[in-house]
Amino acid sequence: MTSSNPAAPASEHLLDRALAVTPGGVNSPVRAFRAVGGTPRFIREAHGAWLTDVDGRTYVDLIGSWGPMILGHAHPQVMAAVQDAATRGFSFGTPSENEVLLAEEIVSRVEPVEQVRLVSSGTEATMSAVRLARGATGRSKIVKFAGCYHGHVDALLAHAGSGVATFALPDSAGVPASAAGETIVLPYNDVPALEAAFAEHGDEIAALITEASPGNMGVVPPQPGFTEAMRTLTARHGALLISDEVMTGFRCSRAGWLGYEGIPESGAPDLFTFGKVMGGGFPAAAFGGRADLMSQLAPLGPVYQAGTLAGNPIATAAGLATLQGCTPQVYSQLLATAQRIAGAAHEALDAAGVPHVIQWASSMFSVFFTENSRVLNYDDARSQDLPAFAAFFHAMLDAGVHLPPSAFESWFVSAAHDDEAIEHIIAALPAAASAAAQARDRMTR
Ligand SMILES: *Cc1c(COP(=O)(O)O)cnc(C)c1O
Repeated sequence: MTSSNPAAPASEHLLDRALAVTPGGVNSPVRAFRAVGGTPRFIREAHGAWLTDVDGRTYVDLIGSWGPMILGHAHPQVMAAVQDAATRGFSFGTPSENEVLLAEEIVSRVEPVEQVRLVSSGTEATMSAVRLARGATGRSKIVKFAGCYHGHVDALLAHAGSGVATFALPDSAGVPASAAGETIVLPYNDVPALEAAFAEHGDEIAALITEASPGNMGVVPPQPGFTEAMRTLTARHGALLISDEVMTGFRCSRAGWLGYEGIPESGAPDLFTFGKVMGGGFPAAAFGGRADLMSQLAPLGPVYQAGTLAGNPIATAAGLATLQGCTPQVYSQLLATAQRIAGAAHEALDAAGVPHVIQWASSMFSVFFTENSRVLNYDDARSQDLPAFAAFFHAMLDAGVHLPPSAFESWFVSAAHDDEAIEHIIAALPAAASAAAQARDRMTR
């Protein structure tokens, strides 16, 4: 039995049952509240900006399913598209029109992407992009950055120590050294480290994979010139640049981070990965790039890749309706909403004397509970005061605001966050900031 939580008896009961039949009671580790303690809320339904748990309590949602729910939950147009698609069957195992429509929408938004292959998760997208890069270059090494998450692909789970060109140790049990040994892990935003790695291994490196703007160590955008440096170095050494836009894609702008930051002067990335927003809450993801590279894939080329449910008609209908709903007006609204919430968080934490810094990638932002004035890489991100975050998180949850249950995440707003939802968040912040301040006092006493 878990400890008794009078605020969430029905969630607690479900958690007990889940713990018996599911490892840790969850189907994705971050849902388990391990980082903040307590009982994860089992959500019964969600509409607009609000979640309702199995105890009937409501929360303003700042997780947004970790990114996909950019229009809000159960959005009427997406709902209609899903219901309409479902009446015509669930999966055909043949080509279908929705796949073409979704691919056309993506290609029309992200200029350097001429072709995409649809898959069912971001993990599949990065795994397939890495395979394609290795197949196209005939090389095997991959460079990634500490703190960047690219799904649970063996070769990409490694993040090892910071510093110059470290050969990675597996970060997860079950990843053979042979898989991780082809991965070079570097500190983010560190051009000299990048130059050193390419100087030493340049002709063995198939690809550099990076989050377009990292959001999985909290929001740590590339410093001016860093994207450019990645592009220049990879091109000089014949390696591909894979921009992982699974989180940023179609969120930071209609063309993702690329549309927000602009195409590097030295050229666009070679391959892109997408997920989250483009599935509208259903399992749909993609990888894509120039047609000459994409034509290396089966059935045209020698790089094998496939999926029984890839391009599923319901998932693609949801994704297409979501992207169609992501108008310029939606993007400016997301920015304004994020600025109001982050501004209020900053004021409340300042008033309570809690050191923090807020970092941005368009409307994605995160609040780092750190004394550093900025967070440039994973080591900086790990300097956070985690007990202070946990206290802040639980005070917000008690007040009916559901933040991501980890200090290393972006807060995700949606187009459904109206004044009522925003004001509910703002009203909860001062008490949460005080709780964070008290947690700090307890730690330092
Ligand atoms: C979420 C995420 C992934 C993995 O996507 P899944 O659909 O969870 O497999 C990969 N890359 C980035 C940048 C992500 O944020």
